Amino acid sequence: MRSFIPVAADSPFPIQNLPFGIFRPNAGGAARVGVAIGEHVLDLAVLEERGMLDGIGDGAPVFARPALNHFMSLGRPAWRKARETIAHLLDEQTPTLRDDSALRAHALHRMADVTMCLPAEIGDYTDFYSSRDHATNVGTMLRGPENALMPNWLHLPVGYHGRASSVVVSGTDVRRPRGQLKPPTAPAPSFGPTRSLDFELEVAFFTGPGNPLGEPIPIAQAEEHIFGLVLMNDWSARDVQGWEYQPLGPFLAKNFCTSISPWVVTLDALAPFRAPPMAQDPAPLEYLRWADDFSLDLQLEAHLTPAGTHEATAITRTNFRHLYWTMAQQLAHHASGGCNLRAGDLLASGTVSGPEKTSRGCLLELTWRGAEPLELPGGARRTQLEDGDCLSITGWAQGDGHRVGFGEVTGRVLPAA
Ligand code: MN
Repeated sequence: MRSFIPVAADSPFPIQNLPFGIFRPNAGGAARVGVAIGEHVLDLAVLEERGMLDGIGDGAPVFARPALNHFMSLGRPAWRKARETIAHLLDEQTPTLRDDSALRAHALHRMADVTMCLPAEIGDYTDFYSSRDHATNVGTMLRGPENALMPNWLHLPVGYHGRASSVVVSGTDVRRPRGQLKPPTAPAPSFGPTRSLDFELEVAFFTGPGNPLGEPIPIAQAEEHIFGLVLMNDWSARDVQGWEYQPLGPFLAKNFCTSISPWVVTLDALAPFRAPPMAQDPAPLEYLRWADDFSLDLQLEAHLTPAGTHEATAITRTNFRHLYWTMAQQLAHHASGGCNLRAGDLLASGTVSGPEKTSRGCLLELTWRGAEPLELPGGARRTQLEDGDCLSITGWAQGDGHRVGFGEVTGRVLPAA
């Protein structure tokens, strides 16, 4: 399948992808829903107004809205119908848009002419801890290799409820947070800028339509509640975390900023890249077992551009397949006690680390808690992110002659206020 709109072979947004996002034209106008195609954004509010997307919702506008929540609430039949209708309109064989230059001028924006917004109004955000390599590395640093994994880790997808208000879209600067710090050698805590700012390479999914309070989602139905995926950087202040985290887990070390990529890649677009999940031993309890469960073959990279330079260096290369707990298990576990998930909730993977030293997904692991500083071209050394550093995460699934990609999530560190 090909579009009449030219798409480069290494573009993340060929017709096989069609991710949804929220954009605002730089020339003015309200934020609304668009689909990325090559270097362009297809304006779904325009197509909807002309009746070209009829039958997707219940008659109320679906795409002339500043967030994807309503569309996410409609469920997979509506998501699939929208995707098929848009794919048909963009197909090189379909004249409707291809041969109507007035409509094209109205409905297609160059990416350079729009500003991307957060894709949804995020009601709740949860972060899991689903990479066994990450949990083992961190546990080894904190407790030694014998007690690396806590006794619950192989039985349930560990997670915590995060902060939705500080989730920001890619391109937003991150301000170095102040917090309460107490190095092990200090006699008393002090308050000041973190000296251990880190990133976490993660992938997150948006939920919809969700479940009523008190009615769990059986794991076999979990995929009906996964709208699509984004890349995520869970900025972290390790020194704040080290002092505050016991006994209730992450708090201010994690809530000052979390960045996500703007385009939501649907589960349908990623269907060709399903892969067997990791073998689980011991077998999980019945409510976490599903014969058709799956992982995804997504290549993931983090790139660091040190302050004062323009040279980005790949500092980790990993894959979504390294996650021990699947998205379906995370979602079913989250709702298993009756917690209601709503359209537009964000559930994140946790740091995606793989088995290799070069596939570790955060600086804490890459530098082994500062013992092995990162050596970057040009002589820069890092054990934490410095002011002015820029961190970008990118990811894609490699198809035959095309990529189904996410674009990137990027952010630059500003000095403490
Ligand atoms: Mn995290």
